[in-house]
Amino acid sequence: MRFRSHLIASSIAAVMLYPRAPWRAALVVIAGTIIDVDHLVLYASRSGDTNPLGAIQYDRRRVGRPTTGDTRPRYGPLRSVIHNPLVTLPLVWGAARLVPALTPLAQGLTLHLAMDTPWKMLLDLRVWRRSGGICERCGERRRSRQVYHHIIPKDGGAIWALENRVLWCERCAKAVRKRQGFTS
Ligand SMILES: [Zn+2]
Ligand SMILES: [Zn+2]
Repeated sequence: MRFRSHLIASSIAAVMLYPRAPWRAALVVIAGTIIDVDHLVLYASRSGDTNPLGAIQYDRRRVGRPTTGDTRPRYGPLRSVIHNPLVTLPLVWGAARLVPALTPLAQGLTLHLAMDTPWKMLLDLRVWRRSGGICERCGERRRSRQVYHHIIPKDGGAIWALENRVLWCERCAKAVRKRQGFTS
């Protein structure tokens, strides 16, 4: 998730949660954005570039479609353990229970991590459940691991709708993609 999206979303949440408490609102915004400092630190340590602008540019490039001939290194999403909601959220909400003044921090962090969660993976879980892990085209079980495809809906409909998603083995996915206008 891009830094700017986090900034906008946490600002909106802050105003809605604390319209009359500017300090608490500011804490929501700070917590909702500053956690991405781990991207900056990891980017600097990997690339040797300590310019925060370089890190932001990298992040923009990373989520964009790779252009041909772009040989600049890719370091992945560069997330540290604080981006793991199972580690961070129990800690901050526990702290907020003890010290209620920390609640805005916990809210900001929760929002940030919810935005960073790959919700698409959860959609894939539904496909996994429906198919039982078996290729929905040829019935092969062994080769049908973790290959999800969405079909371009012919008569509209969302590409993330369950009926437009299938689990195929690698061989079927390749065969179908070759013959028809499916995308991966
Ligand atoms: Zn983040
Ligand atoms: Zn198959």
